[in-house]
Amino acid sequence: MADIVLDKVSKSFPDGTVAVQDVDLEIADGEFVILVGPSGCGKSTTLNMIAGLEDISSGELRIGGQRVNDKAPRDRDIAMVFQSYALYPNMTVRENMAFPLRLAKLDKATIDQKVDEAAKVLELTSLLDRKPANLSGGQRQRVAMGRAIVRQPKAFLMDEPLSNLDAKLRVQMRTVVSRLQKKLGTTTVYVTHDQTEAMTLGDRVVIMRGGAIQQVGPPQELYDHPRNLFVAGFIGSPSMNFLHAAVEDGKLRTALGDVPIGDRIRRELEGADAPRELILGIRPEHFEDAELIDDEARARGMEFTAPADIVESMGSDKYVYFTVEGQRASAAELEELAADAGADFSGGGGNLVTRLSAESPVQEGEDRRVWFNLEKIHLFDPSNGRNLT
Ligand code: ATP
Repeated sequence: MADIVLDKVSKSFPDGTVAVQDVDLEIADGEFVILVGPSGCGKSTTLNMIAGLEDISSGELRIGGQRVNDKAPRDRDIAMVFQSYALYPNMTVRENMAFPLRLAKLDKATIDQKVDEAAKVLELTSLLDRKPANLSGGQRQRVAMGRAIVRQPKAFLMDEPLSNLDAKLRVQMRTVVSRLQKKLGTTTVYVTHDQTEAMTLGDRVVIMRGGAIQQVGPPQELYDHPRNLFVAGFIGSPSMNFLHAAVEDGKLRTALGDVPIGDRIRRELEGADAPRELILGIRPEHFEDAELIDDEARARGMEFTAPADIVESMGSDKYVYFTVEGQRASAAELEELAADAGADFSGGGGNLVTRLSAESPVQEGEDRRVWFNLEKIHLFDPSNGRNLT
């Protein structure tokens, strides 16, 4: 096993594309780290540099304390799992899993023992004599993982391994990957564009955009304290609502009413070049039907009334879309910023997405009183996307 360190690692392609720029990342021995971000953000290139499948243009890559920039992939002692399972169709499951061990010229008894162990961990024992064509997608992906783990490499690198599976199987396989990684305790770097996978799988999540790291941290920390508008919009489903907020007379005027500002934010807004406009961010789950709020919670939040356009009952809760009015002049600009952040803009005239309790008697078309938690709001500086809260 080993730690993996990226020290100012960059990658430019011959056509001038800078895919990864100055990435600093320390992955501890045994850690499970997820690289996530929108298409083209550089996550696969980063993984391929760790694997040795792409050259590093500048910076240093160390695995287990050793500089490996110029080491061939086969000498790095890491195993890759791809989205396409890349199984040999004419070999059985056992032969597929044994393949890397045969290449390593291990004796037959050792190979059998290692394959049997891996098959047990992955619950493949009863399928060892089948050919890939006679397996389900999830089973094939388990065989691909089996082939990676038999070698007991220093690290696993996984590039969207579950993206070929249907939604239900993906959820099941998520728990398989998670359990496997915990059991083996092998350093794992996992690439996905799916924020739910990122949030549920890893010890730490690395959010990338445009070849650079936006934020690194445990999933809960990214959810609670997104550093900027991009991370805030990327993490969470449905996305955070973004509303225009004008700073006027020490108040924040928004489509939901005047939002009180705490002392710390007030100080941030005092300087001559302080922003006069902010973006207010509220997650759908931090709203509630005002009728269901007790006095204690009421004191922690504020309320507004808006027409409920659409009510989607999810059983455990309700997604309710409200129309909010009163958007100000720079809506287009904010919309661009929010879209850039991968999030839906829910300013005036648009829909506010809320997640209310299933008990809420809200009806489509009615005006409804809605509460939101002021302790959970975020305020962003639109000039640079920075979270001020
Ligand atoms: P996806 O989720 O779509 O796979 P990604 O985040 O993994 O995206 P990369 O595949 O790492 O992104 O690509 C990062 C950037 O580098 C993109 O702009 C891509 O077009 C570019 N790129 C990748 N490979 C090459 C190449 N061989 N030559 C030139 N540009 C490339």
